[in-house]
Amino acid sequence: MKKDLYIDFDSTIVNSDKAICAIYNERYKDYEGFKPAEWQKHKNWAYKYICPLIHEHEENPVQVIQDYYGSQDFFDKLEFYDDAKKVIGELTDKYKVIICTSAFPTNASKKVLWIEEHLSEVDEIIILINKSGHGYGKARVPMMESDAIFIDDHPKNLHSTQASQKYLFKFKETDYNGDWDGPVVSSWREIEDLLL
Ligand SMILES: [Mg+2]
Repeated sequence: MKKDLYIDFDSTIVNSDKAICAIYNERYKDYEGFKPAEWQKHKNWAYKYICPLIHEHEENPVQVIQDYYGSQDFFDKLEFYDDAKKVIGELTDKYKVIICTSAFPTNASKKVLWIEEHLSEVDEIIILINKSGHGYGKARVPMMESDAIFIDDHPKNLHSTQASQKYLFKFKETDYNGDWDGPVVSSWREIEDLLL
């Protein structure tokens, strides 16, 4: 029987930060004090440092970021991390691949359609919609099947489940991914070497 392999979506399979920066750069380019946002410098979950004009000009910056995540523009701009699509395709031969992702009511359906269009080979999609935005990590999905594996870029999510093997996807250092002393992977090449 194939083992269950749970994989997070944003900032694990796809470079969500790059898409957010591209939207910001289009919308704020004519504002005073504008400097192009560079996704490589992303550190803060609310994009405080690289998209500062949102925080300067908007009353509810977090809502604005959520709106970005829910826009068609975001899904049009969304790109895979290097090798992610190829490796996920190979993983489906050996594992039951389950994308397990948090979403907002406004972006959940677009996210599923994007996954269907670009990763139709995955076996299952689990979308967690916590409407308050202050969730339980991914604790609603216990991942208790024997030898279940879970890969996520957020330690809080990894801590919240019972998966027997958990890996932090750490493409870069941020101010929210430090709380983890388990195994780390930093590219899809590494995931390929590890799991295939
Ligand atoms: Mg993520």
